Amino acid sequence: MAFFTRTPFGRKKRPQSAVSDGLWKKCDGCKQTVYQADIEENMQVCPNCGHHYRIQSLARIELLVDSGSFEMTHANITADDPLEFSVGKETYAERIGRARKQSGLNEALVTGMARIEGVRCALGCMDSTFVMASMGSAVGEKFCRLVKDAIVNKVPLIMISASGGARMQEGILALMQMAKTADAVRQINEAGLPYIVVQTDPTSGGVFASFANLGDVTIAEPKAYIGFAGARLIEGAFGIKLPEGFQRAEYQRDNGFVDEIVTRPEMRAYLGKLLRYLAPSADKDLENYTPEKEEPAMATAASGTEEEA
Ligand SMILES: [Zn+2]
Repeated sequence: MAFFTRTPFGRKKRPQSAVSDGLWKKCDGCKQTVYQADIEENMQVCPNCGHHYRIQSLARIELLVDSGSFEMTHANITADDPLEFSVGKETYAERIGRARKQSGLNEALVTGMARIEGVRCALGCMDSTFVMASMGSAVGEKFCRLVKDAIVNKVPLIMISASGGARMQEGILALMQMAKTADAVRQINEAGLPYIVVQTDPTSGGVFASFANLGDVTIAEPKAYIGFAGARLIEGAFGIKLPEGFQRAEYQRDNGFVDEIVTRPEMRAYLGKLLRYLAPSADKDLENYTPEKEEPAMATAASGTEEEA
């Protein structure tokens, strides 16, 4: 540090306060110091290296859907504590209370109806700030209701997955959600409606092994962790060395589990194109759609979509 920054009583405080104030951030991807506002402006993606930071569900939804078009549904469904489970001194009910306070949400899955580039769709988005977006009965139930909404409204379903797996505090009730949600996907399939999954970091465990892996089209964010069990567990169990980049989005794409890797800034346009391609019955919605302009708040007229799927 240059001498002119010294004070008679020693060195001046480093501008480290700016780092702790959140003005600067050492990027997890490139390890460069990046201006925090630049990351935020770039949808929580590092402008240097393209590292995708995790993003909360409501912020992500805002980035994806047409302005003002998201109507949240089933917001009051939340976890119960039938097993009266506790970890240490904290009961499951207390854990849920803490998660609610931290995230401002009632559960790890946010559901609703929205428009993306003018096309109406049912949209679900998981939130890793809520008990690592683990799947318990409430998440399973919300997913099934979202599927039902898509079928009743004859619109495509988009699911943005992120999860640490099944919620262990609900034991077998959490594991049961895998079968329940997989069956809901069967229903949307039988209804002839497209189901698009966007896998984000991390998509793992019971969610990976059920609805997050059953999409007609599966998209992933760059370098997202996607897999059932962790690499170390697999290496230990089978006594093998796994290749570099194992269980990252690119690896899953190269092995046929993911159709396309799409960056966050490109996601909205990509989904819009996909929806227009896959959901021709929603075309009528586009008659009143003008890109670049903000939509009038909450187009409620659903009649345009009540056509044959
Ligand atoms: Zn970076």
